[in-house]
Amino acid sequence: MKKQILLATTNKGKLNDVKEILKDIDVEILSFLDFKDYPNVEETGNTFFENAELKCKAAYEKYGIPSFGDDSGLEAFQLIGEPGIYSARYAGEDSDDEQNNLKLIKKLSDYPEPHLGRFVCAAVYFDGKNYKSAIGEIRGNIIKSPRGENGFGYDPLFIPNGYDNTMAELSHEEKNKISHRLNAFKELKKYLV
Ligand code: IMP
Repeated sequence: MKKQILLATTNKGKLNDVKEILKDIDVEILSFLDFKDYPNVEETGNTFFENAELKCKAAYEKYGIPSFGDDSGLEAFQLIGEPGIYSARYAGEDSDDEQNNLKLIKKLSDYPEPHLGRFVCAAVYFDGKNYKSAIGEIRGNIIKSPRGENGFGYDPLFIPNGYDNTMAELSHEEKNKISHRLNAFKELKKYLV
């Protein structure tokens, strides 16, 4: 039987990205979407790595399948890494992308431009015995007014270095060729082959 790896997420976008990145190795990538009773993993860690580890550990403990966990977010350097691990809930527990973006723009308006930052993704693999971990990033400039309709989260505010477009103005394929997630899972892939 083909080796299986479980990605501890219900996010179809992430699942497709990871499948694409690992398509040339002989594994079947499952996700929580393949199970009815998947664990709800609280992101209680203090770092992207801790949260990624919590996710893959919970997945392995529940299903006994070698697992990936990942956690990601945006860091604005002038805000000493905010919103960081709080990216999804920056403007409050139930905040949406628009509210989070507005809060970031407001906070950065106290600082001179350019507002430099990076997207970060920590990815961790756990096979029941050992952990392997990797980090990926993409650096760029955080702008003052959102541009573009693609992607999600802070994509409309982020222009990757070397580009004129925001991540939300790039196509899905273009974004996936440069993303922090791609960089993290490409690194992790080295341990699997
Ligand atoms: P998580 O890795 O699913 O916990 O993502 C946390 C949050 O980070 C998301 O809800 C977004 O706000 C932000 N984020 C992570 N990756 C991206 C990205 O590729 N584009 C835009 N925002 C992102």
